[in-house]
Amino acid sequence: MSESPQPLRVAIIGSGPSGLYAAGALQRSTEVKAQVDVFDRLPTPWGLVRAGVAPDHPNIKAVTRMYEKTASHPEFRFFGNVEIGSDITVEELCERYHAVIYAFGAAADRRLGIAGEDLPGSWAATEFVAWYNGHPDYRDLEFDLSGERAIVVGNGNVAADVARMLALTHEELRVTDVADHALEALRDSAIREIVVLGRRGPAQAAFTNPEVLELGELQDADIIVDPKDVELDEGSRRWLESDASDMTARRNVEIFTEYSRRVPEGKRKRIVMRFLTSPVEIVGDGRVEGVVVERNELVEADDGTLKAKPTGQRETIPASLVFRSVGYRGVALPGVPFDEARAVIPNDGGRVLAEPGGEPLRGHYVVGWIKRGPTGIIGTNKRDAQETVKALLEDVAAGKVLECPQPEREAIESLLAERCPDHVTYAHWQSIDRAEREAGEPQGRPRVKLCTVPELLDAAGVSVVKS
Ligand code: NAP
Repeated sequence: MSESPQPLRVAIIGSGPSGLYAAGALQRSTEVKAQVDVFDRLPTPWGLVRAGVAPDHPNIKAVTRMYEKTASHPEFRFFGNVEIGSDITVEELCERYHAVIYAFGAAADRRLGIAGEDLPGSWAATEFVAWYNGHPDYRDLEFDLSGERAIVVGNGNVAADVARMLALTHEELRVTDVADHALEALRDSAIREIVVLGRRGPAQAAFTNPEVLELGELQDADIIVDPKDVELDEGSRRWLESDASDMTARRNVEIFTEYSRRVPEGKRKRIVMRFLTSPVEIVGDGRVEGVVVERNELVEADDGTLKAKPTGQRETIPASLVFRSVGYRGVALPGVPFDEARAVIPNDGGRVLAEPGGEPLRGHYVVGWIKRGPTGIIGTNKRDAQETVKALLEDVAAGKVLECPQPEREAIESLLAERCPDHVTYAHWQSIDRAEREAGEPQGRPRVKLCTVPELLDAAGVSVVKS
């Protein structure tokens, strides 16, 4: 197919996996020559790969090599430290691009909706994750790790990450890229027991198998599972044997069953998995002192799924810290449609709709968590982005993208020079990356993260700091 005479100008908002996979898919197109500009609010790219993936998971982080390849394309540009919606509006982007792809993920957390949720000592797990990963907005949080027990609510991979991070030894952590402030605080942590609460059973947990296996392989923490908790109810057993279940669930049950048979080795810390247990209230006089929990049983809902039903049997688990790890939640961007009920941008296969179930909004597309909700592993975003880019290219062929009255590549640069003179380009990011890696080398760490915007801009060689 012949190349179109005019390059297709695409702005992608968000430089995490979904944004980078969308950029890569556009670059691979044989139908158009795409010029892709990726914007990020932070001076650093890679979204949750930098700010979400646990520091002791370097292999997962290695995916950035793919993104570096995409970023090295001559028609790719990165503009970090630029907030779309405040520094530059979506309307202004629309004058300079044929299409805008929203790839900004889900920045907030889902709430439990119980009393005491906002007591000091009760945190969204996402805050803790961003803190230990050196996200500049969370750098100054102070977690009181002086108590002996922390409770993690939720049975997803974020809950597993948080439990593990609280259980890892200083020796295990100090060879990672965990933020220095977190390394220090976690070294002095007095937490000895981490209780992980699942409202349903082991068969319904959202963990993936490697994450469950890791919990049983920690240097200085025993894993404790009550044998009664892995005795499956009739509904779970039937479901596990049916085609509706999956290998992950079956294997999780096997692993938890094996854990329930283990004799604790008397390690310094314990991770206690409690299933069929929901928090009903977080209690304490001015700060978290415990969590009132209620035992659940599983009942079949109208859609055939097994839901947690409270039994009325309650107890209080003393604890000084609570991490609510029940999922992320998307946040609206001014000027862009938002489905409040699902906390996503309403879309049809990646084409943004003016409202849920409404008409497509010409030139606007969406990928990743803000498209489908906060589920799936990093790789899930690849297929997701391909679907969106396919729709976008169909619209290009049908002449259904934005008119783009200012198609020159420089048009956005002059606006950035005026609004965000301290924006970070890809070359600037490479300077930051080099500085962090060099700082890590003598310590045998992959990098030492710079965790404030001024430090990052300094390493980038960008001198103007936003007021
Ligand atoms: P998630 O996988 O959706 O898990 C959320 C958990 O919270 C579920 O166990 C859910 O239980 C529970 N929950 C929801 N509302 C609750 C309530 N009111 N009370 C008690 N429990 C409640 O979310 P996530 O852990 O935030 O992870 C987000 C995505 O990132 C997932 O796809 C995850 O796999 C991925 N991730 C992957 C990795 C990795 O690959 N290593 C690491 C981190 C995150 P129900 O099932 O009963 O609703």
